[in-house]
Amino acid sequence: MPPIEITLWHVLIASGLTALCTGLGIVPFLFVDRISDRFLGIGNSLAAGLMMGASIGLIFEAHLISDMKLAIGLAIGAAMIVATRALLPDDHDEEESLTLGLESASFRKMLMIMAVMTAHSFAEGIGVGVSFGGREGFGELISSAIAIHNIPEGIAIALVMIPRGVSKMKTTLWSIFSSLPQPLMAVPAFLFVLVFEPLLPIGLGLAAGAMIYMVFVELMPEALEHVKAQAAIPVCLLATAAMLAFQWLL
Ligand SMILES: [Zn+2]
Repeated sequence: MPPIEITLWHVLIASGLTALCTGLGIVPFLFVDRISDRFLGIGNSLAAGLMMGASIGLIFEAHLISDMKLAIGLAIGAAMIVATRALLPDDHDEEESLTLGLESASFRKMLMIMAVMTAHSFAEGIGVGVSFGGREGFGELISSAIAIHNIPEGIAIALVMIPRGVSKMKTTLWSIFSSLPQPLMAVPAFLFVLVFEPLLPIGLGLAAGAMIYMVFVELMPEALEHVKAQAAIPVCLLATAAMLAFQWLL
């Protein structure tokens, strides 16, 4: 059977679907009326573990190509986060938050998560585009890996927005918005694969670095505010294992 020729449409549809998957993060919230402490604690631990598993997967893919570029990507990811933090209004800046009716710390947290999630999506878009230009089946593999890891990212966004009074509809749209850079970058990366290909391990490292930041600085501290470590850590580790097992199956 001759291999199917990959066209720009394949890339656009695949990367559009990965972005839509981020919206699935709302699903667990459709079944609860009142967000309890326990739900927040376990939910954050779960999202942290799934993201941890996903970033190990991305780091492994990058490691197979170049450890040097992986290290550069992780460093750029860290620098990007430090820069984002510096650009955001600080905790005592009341003005922006008052317009939304939120305490400033909450507002800052939502902005930070949206900024990190949206920025690292650019790197993931490059990953999707380049992989469709590579060996047969690689595009499907990388896009499904990214689509699946977008779901806990959607959960993470919902976990910060829903308890702060943002509607479920708006939360879903914001989640999808955070992944729109994926189709946006996948198309040029596919068209100019020779230019973008050397960047692939850097992009994967950057995306993994941003997710690891989310796990340590946003998700786990939030989880530990609501449930004890004896509950949060096992849930996180089991979710990491589940994500790794899932990627192995793929
Ligand atoms: Zn991601």
